[in-house]
Amino acid sequence: MSRTALHNDVPERIHPEDGDEECPICHSKRYLRRDMRFLINPECYHRMCESCIDRIFSHGPAPCPVAGCGKTLRRHRFRAPTFQDLQLEREVDIRKRVSQVFNKQEDDFDTLLDYNNYLNDVEDITHNLIHNIEVDAMEQRLREYEAANRQAITENSKRSNQGMRDEKRRLASEKEQARLRQQSAASEAQAYKAERDAARRNVISQLATGRGDADTIARRGQTVLKKSKALREQYERRPEPVDTGFQVKGLKKTVKAGPVNPYDPFDGLTAKHEYGIVHDNYRWQPLEQAKKDRRIMAGGYDIDEYCSRMLTDLYVGFGVFVGEDEDVATAGAGMAAMTDTVMTDVS
Ligand SMILES: [Zn+2]
Ligand SMILES: [Zn+2]
Repeated sequence: MSRTALHNDVPERIHPEDGDEECPICHSKRYLRRDMRFLINPECYHRMCESCIDRIFSHGPAPCPVAGCGKTLRRHRFRAPTFQDLQLEREVDIRKRVSQVFNKQEDDFDTLLDYNNYLNDVEDITHNLIHNIEVDAMEQRLREYEAANRQAITENSKRSNQGMRDEKRRLASEKEQARLRQQSAASEAQAYKAERDAARRNVISQLATGRGDADTIARRGQTVLKKSKALREQYERRPEPVDTGFQVKGLKKTVKAGPVNPYDPFDGLTAKHEYGIVHDNYRWQPLEQAKKDRRIMAGGYDIDEYCSRMLTDLYVGFGVFVGEDEDVATAGAGMAAMTDTVMTDVS
């Protein structure tokens, strides 16, 4: 099947730049008449010259005169094609028509998957319409959807128009800002030049009148020139706004990673006593003896570790769990004092 037959007899691409573009009705060639205009009608996309259209359709609808077509065409629907390739012209028209009906946006969907499924369905319809597959069924679906969702379609269309207007306004304001920047740069350069010229003229006129010492006048002139030179340098150092002519909007803000914490093998877990305070020294005879006994201490026996474990065992034995809102430190101190007493009593 040829490409032309597949696409509803839409004519193949014609190259008007070749100069041999010919009207299929009157067979006039652009080569002979440079001012010839070719128009198309979105009913069948047959291209014909404007004078033929005027002649055939000025009295009302008439069948397309191209052999084998015969579709009823109306004068007011003829227009100049946007693309030279009429297949493309037709595809763009179909896509435009479908997207005006199926005009939901990503925000309307809960998940990206749902949105993609919707786009897939829309593309199926568009593809079938473009390639003339089940055209009647597709048109039917389009009409049904349009009838069922008229309200939503109107709202979405309004919303997308608003978005386009906002974008236009943003572009216009960016342009205006660039113009103002240019204007201010030009006026600053002009002011610098005027100041420099005035200083020079002043020096010359003072020297010409012969009032005052020539050296002093020259020095004063130099100072003024230096000042204006500094002004110019300051202006030149000012960073120019970067205009790459290409702007990407809506990118995510990149957040710089903070300093990396040192590696903690215990992941924040500490052996700190949460509910009690382990004191450095407990007055208890067996402990005092153990400290002095080399037989006990030689193996690396740790008195503090022993006390700490005893304290923990004590709390566990009492079933003490200090509440979240209680003053932990005070409670701990109290417990420690109690432990102290108990130990003393034992001794
Ligand atoms: Zn013609
Ligand atoms: Zn036709």
